[in-house]
Amino acid sequence: MPAQPTPMMAQYLALKEEAGNCLLFYRMGDFFELFFDDARKAAGVLDIALTTRGEHDGQPVPMCGVPVHAAESYLARLIRAGCRVAIAEQVETPAEAKKRGGSKALVARDIVRFVTAGTLTEEALLEPRRANVLAAACEVRGSIGVASCDISTGRLEVEECEPGAFGAALARTGISELVVPDEWDGAPPGAIVRSRGEFASGEGERRLKAIHGVATLDGFGALSRSMLAAVGGLLAYLEHVGRGTLPFLQPPVVRTGGSSLAMDEATRASLEILAASGGGRKGSLIDAVDRCVTGGGARQLAEDLAAPLTERDAIAARLSLVGWLNDEALLRDDLRATLRALPDIERALGRIVAGRGSPRDLGQLRDGMVAAGRIRDLLTGREGAPPSLDSLVPRLGGHAALIDLLTRALVPSPPTERSQGGFIASGYDAALDELREMSGNARRSIAALEAKYRKETGIAALKIKHNGVLGYFIEVPAKHADALMAPNSGFTHRQTMAGAVRFNALALHDEATRIAEAGGHALAAEEAHFEDLTGQVVAVRNAIAATAAALSRLDVSAGQAERAAEGGWCRPDIVEEPCLEIDGGRHPVVEAALAGSGDRFVANDCRLGANDRLWLIGGPNMGGKSTFLRQNALIVLLAQAGGFVPAQGARIGLVDRLFSRVGASDNLARGRSTFMVEMVETAAILSQATERSFVILDEVGRGTSTYDGLALAWAVVEAVHETNRCRCLFATHYHELARLAETCDALSLHHVRAREWKGELVLLHELAEGPADRSYGLAVARLAGVPANVVSRAKAVLEKLERGRAETGGLAAGLGDLPLFAAAADAQEERCDTLSDRLRDLDIDALSPRDALDLLYELKREA
Ligand code: ADP
Repeated sequence: MPAQPTPMMAQYLALKEEAGNCLLFYRMGDFFELFFDDARKAAGVLDIALTTRGEHDGQPVPMCGVPVHAAESYLARLIRAGCRVAIAEQVETPAEAKKRGGSKALVARDIVRFVTAGTLTEEALLEPRRANVLAAACEVRGSIGVASCDISTGRLEVEECEPGAFGAALARTGISELVVPDEWDGAPPGAIVRSRGEFASGEGERRLKAIHGVATLDGFGALSRSMLAAVGGLLAYLEHVGRGTLPFLQPPVVRTGGSSLAMDEATRASLEILAASGGGRKGSLIDAVDRCVTGGGARQLAEDLAAPLTERDAIAARLSLVGWLNDEALLRDDLRATLRALPDIERALGRIVAGRGSPRDLGQLRDGMVAAGRIRDLLTGREGAPPSLDSLVPRLGGHAALIDLLTRALVPSPPTERSQGGFIASGYDAALDELREMSGNARRSIAALEAKYRKETGIAALKIKHNGVLGYFIEVPAKHADALMAPNSGFTHRQTMAGAVRFNALALHDEATRIAEAGGHALAAEEAHFEDLTGQVVAVRNAIAATAAALSRLDVSAGQAERAAEGGWCRPDIVEEPCLEIDGGRHPVVEAALAGSGDRFVANDCRLGANDRLWLIGGPNMGGKSTFLRQNALIVLLAQAGGFVPAQGARIGLVDRLFSRVGASDNLARGRSTFMVEMVETAAILSQATERSFVILDEVGRGTSTYDGLALAWAVVEAVHETNRCRCLFATHYHELARLAETCDALSLHHVRAREWKGELVLLHELAEGPADRSYGLAVARLAGVPANVVSRAKAVLEKLERGRAETGGLAAGLGDLPLFAAAADAQEERCDTLSDRLRDLDIDALSPRDALDLLYELKREA
């Protein structure tokens, strides 16, 4: 039989049971300790020593520990490595434990909090320029509800989607943690599984009403059953993680289908909107456009770019603000200078409402509200200001009472740590001032006592000192100690050190007690003020959040104006008709990269319209085809996000869905067969793109053999042209596709120009009309450093191949006679009809075996 666990081990195991698959940080004095598998895992991730402590079931217990004062940085690393952590604190002092259960009693511990990637509020654990999103999702009667929130700022969003669009919905929100009910097939891997009972729509509705103190949710928009069930699951998880305390949650924003530019996961990844293909921000679109000077602004910009708008008026409202700030350069500078000094109001508020705020957070709110008022003054009464400013400016004010309160109550720079006090300003509370005065006086009287004792004993080296163990004491060098040791000296011996002896005395004791009491009372008074001030902040949290949101919007607009001024960007003209007319368009990321190496980006035009909606783009590798495709997709995205675009002029017909696909060989990093992935993604476009969509297809068909690839590329172009009828840029190295121009009337041919000069290939990165004349493949190979003898051998092979092509008509011989995609499909159907008619009319019993066989041969010939 295994030995009975020690009381401590029993307590640990019970807490670990509660922590489930979270790592348990078990507080022991100045350390958080981890045991068993938790210790192994954490030691590996944190690269700290794994040791053992005691035994359990006859085996040594693996252990590691981190100091409490440095716990945040260790937590950050664990969270980044995908772990979740339960924090078990000591919830009584050893003295309380003794009083409760005798001298051997174990200090009671409790899990006070779970730290998970999606529920962080600590400044040190969060990235300032990125939202941190926790989402819950569940399926109700075939629809998936998704509720996502950033608890560091309180933003809550709900949406409903078809199972097929779930991946895209998750990709848009870019979540750090996802919670799903158990036994759900649709749950993505890695999601946190909770009991299905927590995802109840009735409970979600009830709690949402309670949080916002409303009798009906109608004011928030139409919340479906699945949305409410997801909200229920989200709130239950938040409550579990916060041990009963809910964080700040703003009223939910309901996202409905079509309210933002639809982009699936593959499109987002290929356009590298918020992260480059390597995963980092460097090289992404946002990195190239973000000029925000506040964290809140940067987070808002990320949200804008992740979900561009689809309504002309809404886009126009944003654009007019950017345009105005673009014109008013001096005002913009002033505005940005004030914004730059702004603290992160949203996150300070988030911590305060979640009950994890500090005096510093209160100070940040005070400073933030003061700055908001200054910005309001700056923007008020400006001539030529756009109407959209009228709704923003009023939200910057209205905090006079709060500002006044916090200014009077707090010292100029309050500390992060509240237990030490010292954050309430003098003059705010007379009683507190008195307590402080007393402890100040006491210190003076200690000095007086020291002088008095020196005089009485004649020992000039006598000192009154203080430490955590003894409190105040008198210390004299050992050689003078004897006099104080005498029974009637008035001093009591406390400690003998090497070279010094320590004593106590009655007057000193009294004085020390007074100091301690006054200090304790002062701390308690400050604590009470802190509670009161946070209460007052919580009461007006929605107004503060509205101010923070208005400031973020101003920062985004000013940043966009700044970026436009920096790069000579233009204000796009957004129209309803399906066109895409870009003059002198540029790719912001490639341009920035080239500028770094001193090269110039060649601007190119794009001119898609109802009668010319599909451009086939050929030309050599490295000629700039992909860059051209993407720059146009990015320009659409930037424009619909409400910002200026890197072009000389832009007229853009509203886009409902944006698709971007790259041929398989560029996409090797994924698990599935790359060609399979390419086809799955292409299938999605063919089934989803509408006449209002914009599609870029880069070398689709390249992932398979030449014949298969050409055939597929051919059929895809035809289908896009005939069926989807969307705007499309299609880059390809198959010259044969040029033949499509003969049959597809809204398709035109273009190429990126190149020239061979003195035997060298010069890539001009310039787009021109007409088919590509040749492929320059060998010249590119030479450019890439393929040895000269290999290139000349390839040249010989090529000549032979080209002679063959001239004789046979080449790869696409005969394709000119092929009926068009739609016509071909019709013909196919017709054939099927005649076949089924003939089968229906057939009297099988009357057929001889020989006739039946002949008929089969005949049908086969026709098929
Ligand atoms: P392709 O798709 O034709 O193979 P890319 O678009 O990938 O070519 O471009 C290859 C490289 O050429 C880019 O990395 C960039 O350095 C350069 N490039 C592309 N377009 C331009 C341009 N418009 N102006 C200047 N350089 C460009």
